[in-house]
Amino acid sequence: MDRVYIFDTTLRDGGQSKGVDFSFADKIAISEALDDIGIDYIEGGWPGANPTDDKLFSSPPKLKFSNFVAFGMTRRPNTSAANDPGLSAVLNGNSDSVCLVGKTWDFHVDKALNISLGENIKMISDSIKEVINRDKEALFDCEHFFDGYKNNKSFAIDCISAAVEAGSKWVVLCDTNGGTLPHEIGEIIGEIKAKMPSAPLGIHCHNDSGTAVACSIAAINAGVRHIQGTINGLGERCGNADLISLIPNLVLKMNFETGVKKENLFKLKHLSRLVDDRLNRFPNQNQPYVGEAAFAHKGGLHASGVQKDSRSYEHIEPELVGNQRSFVVSDQSGKSNIVARLKEVGVEFDQNDHRLNGLIDNIKENEFKGFSYDTAEASFELMARRILENVPDYFVIGRFRVMDERRFNAKGELVVESEASVTLNVGGQAFHEVAIGNGPVNAVDSALRKALSKIYPSLNSVSLVDYKVRIIDSGSGTEATTRVLIECEDANSNRWRSVGLSTNIIDASVMALYDSLTWRLLTLGIKPVSPAN
Ligand SMILES: [Zn+2]
Repeated sequence: MDRVYIFDTTLRDGGQSKGVDFSFADKIAISEALDDIGIDYIEGGWPGANPTDDKLFSSPPKLKFSNFVAFGMTRRPNTSAANDPGLSAVLNGNSDSVCLVGKTWDFHVDKALNISLGENIKMISDSIKEVINRDKEALFDCEHFFDGYKNNKSFAIDCISAAVEAGSKWVVLCDTNGGTLPHEIGEIIGEIKAKMPSAPLGIHCHNDSGTAVACSIAAINAGVRHIQGTINGLGERCGNADLISLIPNLVLKMNFETGVKKENLFKLKHLSRLVDDRLNRFPNQNQPYVGEAAFAHKGGLHASGVQKDSRSYEHIEPELVGNQRSFVVSDQSGKSNIVARLKEVGVEFDQNDHRLNGLIDNIKENEFKGFSYDTAEASFELMARRILENVPDYFVIGRFRVMDERRFNAKGELVVESEASVTLNVGGQAFHEVAIGNGPVNAVDSALRKALSKIYPSLNSVSLVDYKVRIIDSGSGTEATTRVLIECEDANSNRWRSVGLSTNIIDASVMALYDSLTWRLLTLGIKPVSPAN
């Protein structure tokens, strides 16, 4: 099997994304995860460029498999490589390999550097030799290679030869502004391979034309065996080639051997989420392979097809990349979809049970009103169990009242506080609780928990982690309905979601909260407190 080497530049090129700023701790944690899955090269950053990267290359991550790479530029014009302070800072960092970028487009050499083409070739050659003198592996990034090649073929090829002859392990062809299309990449690399068949070529694509992954695959098909990209396609402007798509494409579909073994592909979803979590970004639910929607089936026909044979609507087994199949309930869905979803959440039922039709009608009616069970699996399960089984009333919420106050405190600081009072009945016992919160929902939640924590201590570890509000147009124009989706988490990081709907935002929130807490007690198998106790 042919081997392809994977080079991750999430921490360097990905760090150029708008709104992305990796801390030292982020860089260590992400490097360790990349090492664990089997990425060949991890480009950590640019020593000498900023304090975070200086710290990273003085105390690098402890890696078992990957080569840790420092990024930098070839020496400046008209100096010696040994006397270039920028290059020295890069070489002095603790790294296994050094990847240097240099110009390969004659237009830039002429206009930006204002030097001769011969001096540019010497800059590449001297700098690569200096890396090797320092006992490190050298890689060379050909900046703007494809534009350069279109403008001056022989100069672009001379740049590759200079890097290869100086001892560069890989010479990486970069489509720096992301404008080249897959067929052009394939043609150009084909021409170069014909002239220099043994050149160790790599590819580095940007996604400005929406084709970074396709361009990288075209390069592989043309004979390249080193591929650069980022996790989740992070990167300047429209991003770099997404390794989360490229790796399974190479391993599962093109049958290449990579440092990431087939049996470790299941770690891809976790790796993708780790990077999102570290950056506090919402995961892209439509991301190929690992997105929440990547194996979600909504239409009734699709869902029944998938149940008969998953190959009918899925390109791979979702478990291979750590993802899972899911059935989305919607007003388009037929009985087969709901049946599949019931099986998924473990609700037992008889296919011929007439109550099943009642459940389906209920779902459709509620979705028409504005409920959404696509993501609110806890509310879906509770509704199904209420109709098909028996769900106890663990507690009954009576009335609630919320007051909001905006004022300046004794120190002259502006504070906004909410105070909620709630009555509830738990197993025949009446409670009246009052609590303060940083917002109305938080105050009601705190008041409810005061009473519930005494009777159901297992709810103490449940926290509200996400809250989304959507105004649904009722059509009448006078009364807008509010839908609230909440996400809760327990101490073991299990998460579940519920939904509430009302013309009043607090009421919708309390409804969703009621479902989340009830679902938790039900799934833990907690017995409701009975009036007799
Ligand atoms: Zn780049």
